[in-house]
Amino acid sequence: MKLSIVVSCYNEQAALPLFYDEVKKIIATLSLEVEIIFVDDGSKDETLSLLKKFALEDSIVKYISFSRNFGKEAAMYAGLKHSTGDYVVLMDADMQDPPSLLPQMINIIENENYDSVATRRVTRKGEPPIRSFFARGFYKIINRISSCDIVDGARDFRLMKRKMVDAILSMEEYNRFSKGIFGWVGFKTKWLPYENIERVAGETKWSFWKLFKYSIEGIIAFSTTPLVISTLVGFLMVIAAFLYLIYIIINTITYGNSVNGWPSLVCIILFIGGIQIFFMGIIGQYLAKTYLETKKRPIYITSETNIDKIA
Ligand code: UDP
Ligand code: MG
Repeated sequence: MKLSIVVSCYNEQAALPLFYDEVKKIIATLSLEVEIIFVDDGSKDETLSLLKKFALEDSIVKYISFSRNFGKEAAMYAGLKHSTGDYVVLMDADMQDPPSLLPQMINIIENENYDSVATRRVTRKGEPPIRSFFARGFYKIINRISSCDIVDGARDFRLMKRKMVDAILSMEEYNRFSKGIFGWVGFKTKWLPYENIERVAGETKWSFWKLFKYSIEGIIAFSTTPLVISTLVGFLMVIAAFLYLIYIIINTITYGNSVNGWPSLVCIILFIGGIQIFFMGIIGQYLAKTYLETKKRPIYITSETNIDKIA
């Protein structure tokens, strides 16, 4: 049996040597054939030259270097696409996905009846409280409005059998939201909880704003509920307007016409105007995603690699 380790790296020159050392130690204890596929996601530092050095030293090291930064989703896709193992594991280069868990994960997938072993962190220790607060809120919302199961605290650190990898690769959508894709394809997954670990070196590539945009993308990609909500709100407002109209008619007939209520009128106009723009924004989001999907752009572009078969 063969194991492919897929590692996405973006400006990871500080963490990579530590990661590589650690992984090599773990691999030595495994009774599997192993390949490590590093995906350099358009790094601007020495990441690529490090990868080339690793590859020279050891033939199990493969690398794919993107022509620019395409994002972690694209990096994971490229890694999966080029993987040849019977099992594939996705990992970060910063050791937040502890390589020491690998033997246990492999043991589970070989001996228990699971197609995938995934990890979730049970604490958010070391994360800014405000970020944890919004993260929790996001998981609550998306699980309520999307039909597929998206686990709070789930990391992308996951070991999968070939059939699950092929299922994921068959989803060729341009707007990739892995946490949703993993849930969508199904298969039997065992969850391993572990304490959050802080990255060994370098810094996080995710700003709050980037995470916020990513969460909106997740919602748009895996739920159409916002569209239903906007329809519903529009419908309720029509009913409210109709009832108010009846009230005005009756009021005018019984008490005669009096010209007042300018402030309430302004409020109503602003309120309705605001809601309309807001919902147009939601529709626009879906339209934008559809637009990008129809262009059928490649998910990533390779600039350099030591893998012969470029898929
Ligand atoms: N990463 C990537 N492309 C990006 C951003 C991040 O390949 O555009 C990689 C990064 O090198 C790391 C992993 O994705 O191996 C997770 O990123 P990071 O540790 O910054 O995220 P966090 O763990 O803070 O959520
Ligand atoms: Mg990290």
